[in-house]
Amino acid sequence: MNINVTKPFLPPLAEYHTYLQGVWEREWLTNNGPLVNELEVALKERLDLDHLLFVSNGTIAIQLALKALNITGEVITTPFSYVATSSAVCWEGCVPVMADISPLDFNIDPEKIEAKITPHTSAILATHVYGNPCDVDAIEAIAAKHGLRVIYDAAHAFGTRYKNRSLFSYGDVATSSFHATKLFHTIEGGAVIARDPAVLKRMAEMRNFGHISPTAFQEVGINGKNSEVHAAMGLCNLKYLDDILRVRKSLSERYDRNLAGLPIQRPVSRQGTDFNHAYYAVAVEDEALLLKIIDGLQLHNIFPRRYFFPSLSTLPYVSTESCPVAEDLSRRVMCLPLYHTLSEEEVDMICRLIKRYIRY
Ligand SMILES: *Cc1c(COP(=O)(O)O)cnc(C)c1O
Repeated sequence: MNINVTKPFLPPLAEYHTYLQGVWEREWLTNNGPLVNELEVALKERLDLDHLLFVSNGTIAIQLALKALNITGEVITTPFSYVATSSAVCWEGCVPVMADISPLDFNIDPEKIEAKITPHTSAILATHVYGNPCDVDAIEAIAAKHGLRVIYDAAHAFGTRYKNRSLFSYGDVATSSFHATKLFHTIEGGAVIARDPAVLKRMAEMRNFGHISPTAFQEVGINGKNSEVHAAMGLCNLKYLDDILRVRKSLSERYDRNLAGLPIQRPVSRQGTDFNHAYYAVAVEDEALLLKIIDGLQLHNIFPRRYFFPSLSTLPYVSTESCPVAEDLSRRVMCLPLYHTLSEEEVDMICRLIKRYIRY
């Protein structure tokens, strides 16, 4: 059996089936159905948020955020994220301008942001990489000083709390992904969270083609809705969230103990973080060693992933100054397998192999 970087969490089939029975009885599959509503309410309660909308995926979530905040021109963003962070900016007709990351937490470095601000800048789009909080206070201060909007790509941040608040509650808008590979998932799906209820209302209209009534359209919209069967998966999975968080923490701590003393680098969490352990990332000395380890693990059917490679500053459709920290890190970092059904013995085996390849 393969050990992949991740495996989707699957609830007991009977529990999912119970929700499907209700869907069949109601014959209501999509368009803001009762399960979508129930999931939104449950998520708001669980995460202690005032507003949240369930949308079709985490990429559309970023696009809705950019649109609803009237973002145009240049968006200062991070080169160390999944490609959707940059591509969504381009897709919305804006220009991504990369500010390099901090070598400590791998998140956008606030000190690099200010130098990139021009009269065309309208927003900062930062990713809480691996679920670790960005320096939200410094970013907030820069945004306030220069009149910029802040959007967080919080696709990894489900369950992380920072200063006793959900990480989703920071920024003008936070977006998330509930894709099958993420810690909490709805198969495909995502969410937008907004500080200002008016922005949330706008995104609610935009996700439904811009309808404000069956026959009236306020402005241009898109199909950003999600369905009853996706919401049902979320409602099933949400019941297991405490369990999911607990297992990931325990497996991550096992990795920590096994890998202690090796010449590897791990992202540092800032003080006040209650981390969700969404990913277990390690950076090694250089790309040659990384590839040696990846090849060696593959021989044992173990498949870590190069999250994130390449640095988004090197994308062919992004023209930006180079970001040396991100470009260096992305060449030598990977995420190790971490999922609910991964066993402690498997973690030990992965670590034994890594040690062998690092030493020889
Ligand atoms: C997964 C992910 C996305 C995209 O989410 P989808 O739901 O797959 O569209 C965006 N940003 C980051 C950082 C991600 O990890």
